[in-house]
Amino acid sequence: GDEALIDGSAFDDRSETYTPKAVGVLAIVGRPNVGKSTLVNRVLGRRAAVVEDTPGVTRDRVSYDAEWAGTDFKLVDTGGWEADVEGIDSAIASQAQIAVQLADAVVLVVDGQVGMTATDERIVKMLRASGKPVTLAVNKVDDRESEYMAAEFWKLGLGEPYPISAMHGRGVGDLLDAALDNLKKAEKTSGFLTPSHLRRVALVGRPNVGKSSLLNQLAHEQRAVVHDMAGTTRDPVDEIVNVDGEDWLFIDTAGIKRRLHKVSGADYYSSLRTQAAIERAELALVLFDASQPISDQDLKVMSQAVDAGRAIVLVFNKWDAMDEFDKQRLERLWITEFDRVTWAQRVNLSAKTGWHTNRLASAMRKALESWDQRVPTGKLNAFLGRVQAAHPHPLRGGKQPRILFATQASNRPPRFVIFATGFLEHGYRRYLERSLREEFGFEGTPIQISVNIRE
Ligand code: GDP
Ligand code: GDP
Repeated sequence: GDEALIDGSAFDDRSETYTPKAVGVLAIVGRPNVGKSTLVNRVLGRRAAVVEDTPGVTRDRVSYDAEWAGTDFKLVDTGGWEADVEGIDSAIASQAQIAVQLADAVVLVVDGQVGMTATDERIVKMLRASGKPVTLAVNKVDDRESEYMAAEFWKLGLGEPYPISAMHGRGVGDLLDAALDNLKKAEKTSGFLTPSHLRRVALVGRPNVGKSSLLNQLAHEQRAVVHDMAGTTRDPVDEIVNVDGEDWLFIDTAGIKRRLHKVSGADYYSSLRTQAAIERAELALVLFDASQPISDQDLKVMSQAVDAGRAIVLVFNKWDAMDEFDKQRLERLWITEFDRVTWAQRVNLSAKTGWHTNRLASAMRKALESWDQRVPTGKLNAFLGRVQAAHPHPLRGGKQPRILFATQASNRPPRFVIFATGFLEHGYRRYLERSLREEFGFEGTPIQISVNIRE
């Protein structure tokens, strides 16, 4: 096959989220059980099954790459949690607010069989305050005879209610047309008063690792708050922080300072916020509490940043609270749990005392330099020629796959396309990645390699 693109390798299976695309973000909101997940599944088709049978199970993913009528967009599913009865109002409030922060446009789903509820009205109030465009979907209208059920939702004041059946697909096309129209209009107006010359940093990590402490330690007095353009919501707020003589834009510092612990589904919300911050950032400072065992949640946050293709610096905080035993434990973990990011820089510091915080800026600069790096095609091919001569690909069925040509298709993060005469084995791809890193640095950035087979 002339155009066969092989994506079976370890680096390629993450490629979907690697290249930040300038596409709009559409959030699906609404109270529990109206059919949000069913709608998301319907839109994504067979590509993802997100409806969970187990109540209260938190989904890992919060945003999906979707496509409709030739338009790519991101779909944010906020249906991943069951509110408990007493926390229901505050939980829904947080859900809607965060979805709105993430999104350029919103689809509000209501239940046509149940009719309008007070909760629907409260959500509408919040959505209206956000200024984001809203398309209204009246779900569970399973046949033509039921379409009258949509009419009462005109009262919500969101314009035309779209009767749909997420379950059977009825009306979903018209709804998406309207929602994407909104998204296209919104893309021109949404955005932050982000000083574009500043590098954007997301400070991420599970609760209590020391994010606010580090932000305070870095900022001292030198901070300036950046509000969102519309000025309608207080969140998210970015801050310009001077670190080592340079101004950096720290993303969503309001989220760093805010505690959502008491809200039902708090983990889910903090994961949404983390995802949103990472998506807006160029670099993620991934914080760990080194005095505690590293948890799955710690590693998940790290993976979110790597999978999104961001430059990263790993920060092991609370070094002042470490004894010899803790340090040995961490070194063992470093070998077993961090093998995916051996290319990342690591800074051990104490946000509390300030020890080694002066090492952050140079690590951040280095990671971004790698993230930005472009290798000229001539240089790349000369290098790969040498690499291939030193270690040719093993024979496969009597044939030897050869690299014909390679080019760096993009940067931020660096993405390479290799044209070869046959399938390149996993081990060989790893060898190529290692060699590229040895030769060109790329310290602190993920890189992606895809292989294109030419006969
Ligand atoms: P979520 O909590 O808003 O994500 O809601 P779900 O997608 O989990 O759906 C809640 C329930 O409504 C499930 O039992 C679905 O099968 C049902 N449901 C979803 N969409 C439709 C629909 O179009 N028609 C009917 N009759 N039921 C639906
Ligand atoms: P966040 O939830 O990630 O923003 O974490 P905080 O900054 O609120 O810190 C959580 C707790 O860890 C607080 O009690 C801090 O005082 C403490 N802490 C933060 N950094 C350090 C550190 O470097 N050393 C020690 N010993 N404690 C720290």
